[in-house]
Amino acid sequence: MAKKFHNFIAGKWCEAQSGQTFENRNPANWDEVLGVFPKSGKEDVDKAVRSAQEGFKEWRKVPAPQRGQIMKRVGDLLVKHKEDIARGMTKEMGKVLMETRGDVQEGIDTAYYAAGEGRRLFGQTAPSELPSKFCVSIRQPIGVAGVITPWNFPMAIPTWKIFPALLCGNSVVFKPASDVPLTGTRLVELLLEAGVPPKAINLVHGTGSTVGIPLVEHPGVDVISFTGSSAVGRQISSISGQGLKRLSLELGGKNAQIVMDDANLDLALEGVIWGAFGTTGQRCTATSRLILQEGIYEEFVERLVERTRNLKLGDGLDSSTDVGPVINEKQRENIHSYVEVGQREGARLLCGGESANEGKLSKGFFYRPTIFVDVTPQMRIAKEEIFGPVLAVLKVKTLDEAIEVLNATPYGLSSSIYTQDVNQAFRAIEDIEAGITYINGPTIGAEAHLPFGGVKDTGNGHREGGWTVYDIFTEWKTIYVDYSGKLQKAQIDTEKERA
Ligand code: NAP
Ligand code: MG
Repeated sequence: MAKKFHNFIAGKWCEAQSGQTFENRNPANWDEVLGVFPKSGKEDVDKAVRSAQEGFKEWRKVPAPQRGQIMKRVGDLLVKHKEDIARGMTKEMGKVLMETRGDVQEGIDTAYYAAGEGRRLFGQTAPSELPSKFCVSIRQPIGVAGVITPWNFPMAIPTWKIFPALLCGNSVVFKPASDVPLTGTRLVELLLEAGVPPKAINLVHGTGSTVGIPLVEHPGVDVISFTGSSAVGRQISSISGQGLKRLSLELGGKNAQIVMDDANLDLALEGVIWGAFGTTGQRCTATSRLILQEGIYEEFVERLVERTRNLKLGDGLDSSTDVGPVINEKQRENIHSYVEVGQREGARLLCGGESANEGKLSKGFFYRPTIFVDVTPQMRIAKEEIFGPVLAVLKVKTLDEAIEVLNATPYGLSSSIYTQDVNQAFRAIEDIEAGITYINGPTIGAEAHLPFGGVKDTGNGHREGGWTVYDIFTEWKTIYVDYSGKLQKAQIDTEKERA
């Protein structure tokens, strides 16, 4: 019998009110059931939000440095349980163990950053235009934060949102992706163990339509933080707009790596293999386009295909595996349908382009790392997010053309250029439309203490990570203290002074 897991609502581990459940399975071996989780609905969300409203009253009164101490303890607990959480994560979503360890490490880094922020949360002071008057702005928590996260970074992304939200004094209702309910549960267990008051953190399992939408619609939720696809982001945006809620969206990407003729090709090759096929291409920052300058094109493509053909598919727990499974059958079908689109559009397939079913691979959802050449910027495979191990290669003549091609998608998350020429590098920094640009590094590898997010259809202008995420989870309050003992009228009294 598979282990039974629960929601955490109003300080208690509990079933969905309907009593219904869903299974969590291993995408490398679909026969393996990792647990059974509550299939929650609107009524569970409602209970969780009411609990969070009560939790908020208590938590907001705890001094921020003390909240920071609790975040420090969460970080310590993540260190203690890192290996175990990483193994569970590889089982539930497939990426290789080295990467799931990295995913937990990002949570650890985020916890320690939050701990330090408990002693900062800086406001601002400014001089008054009137005598004997003092002006200051401070940050205050917003209230109940609704947190909705995807399956590809089951620990890192929830921590990017939940730790800053809590550190600022908000309470949280957390809906993890239903493909990764186990890691979400582990995180909530550790938050409670570290000392977050039970009602300040609530966990509701279930799908986007049955839990996600009711959470976004709920009038008791004051701020929503969502990471996922642009299509769902749009839907959430229109619902939460009606409620005039604060909303932070981190959405899709169609990231490109440029390689100029003068680049260090060995380095650029390592970069694109890691960027395109790490996490089986299922990263918002994955390299899904490679833009090559014509002088190195032939040689680079040849070496790239050879390296790609040698990548080993397998279970992410096996240390010889380079590329794990994709998340589920539906996603594998979606990836394959894009491969068919690419072929119909006239792109040429050099490797991959099919599921891998030999031996043990038949038990899971494996797809061979795929490379298309003769891709043009107008093709759908050059513009749309595929979210799988598929790389589209485009050829350009100049830096200007490379940047134009890079910018020719609706997305703007991450970007990369390999060149030894400092002038070209700085031109790229100036003209690339993206939230993140790497020089001589792949499109993946963001650090937890710097702003993270993108432009165009990748988001709505917020940045997670580092110091910027604290703007998402706080309201500014401006305070004027008049110690003159008389009624001073701003603007009007300063007008009089001048007259
Ligand atoms: P998704 O389908 O948009 O789902 C993301 C989350 O939203 C899941 O928890 C999902 O629940 C929930 N959801 C689905 N439909 C919803 C709705 N109508 N209302 C409210 N919530 C809803 O995305 P995904 O397939 O999990 O993740 C892949 C996408 O995330 C890609 O587009 C990727 O680029 C993007 N992503 C972006 C970033 C970034 O920081 N920019 C990082 C990682 C991933 P269920 O799945 O349980 O139904
Ligand atoms: Mg699973």
